[in-house]
Amino acid sequence: MPPTIAIDGPAASGKGTLSKRLAAHYGFAHLDTGSLYRAVGLSVLWAGGDPANPEMALAAALALTPESAILVHPGLRGDDAAQAASQVAAVPAVRAALLDFQHSFVAQPPGGKGSVLDGRDIGTVVCPDAPAKLFVTASMEVRAERRVKELRGAGQDVSLQTVLADMKARDERDSQRAVAPLKPAVDAFVLDTSVLDADQAFAAACAVVGAKIGPV
Ligand code: C5P
Repeated sequence: MPPTIAIDGPAASGKGTLSKRLAAHYGFAHLDTGSLYRAVGLSVLWAGGDPANPEMALAAALALTPESAILVHPGLRGDDAAQAASQVAAVPAVRAALLDFQHSFVAQPPGGKGSVLDGRDIGTVVCPDAPAKLFVTASMEVRAERRVKELRGAGQDVSLQTVLADMKARDERDSQRAVAPLKPAVDAFVLDTSVLDADQAFAAACAVVGAKIGPV
């Protein structure tokens, strides 16, 4: 099995940026698993359904393939997609369907060298045997400010208060759900990026990952 780097953490912790840089550094393929849940949630919304409806959510999950156009749709980054994602993510059958998708990626990563997966349950459920695991986190305030910057940069007119409230609701739903809740794997290195910029976080991550899977 090609090596996998497992990166988990809450919303806007910096795990996406970090995962992309690690993948480029090692020449590994990157899978943002949040985009799978977002695609399922958005499909249900587009069909006029309720993301909390297990039947509709499962049908959307089963229809998702690596070639699905929705996986690169700009609407995936919006807050409505994020909220819908965390609702479909609480449905056990949806998680099971997306587990197959993720395992296929890990077994045959594009390029064949290895993979970096980021999400909420990579180190605990999807790849419990991954040789390198990071749990990337930051304070709620820092994460909300980062998210506001990102959304305003994308032209959305949002307030810090709304983003903070949405983030709290999503974190709570992700941490409290019965199946695959957001939590660090026992063997994950916890990296707090509250006072680190992207370069400092990358340097710290490289030191941890390099010690586990060796140099590039
Ligand atoms: O990482 P991102 O913010 O794009 O994830 C959107 C939502 O998808 C999360 O709030 C979470 O509910 C769900 N998710 C998950 N498991 C993953 C990745 C994302 O439950 N591995």
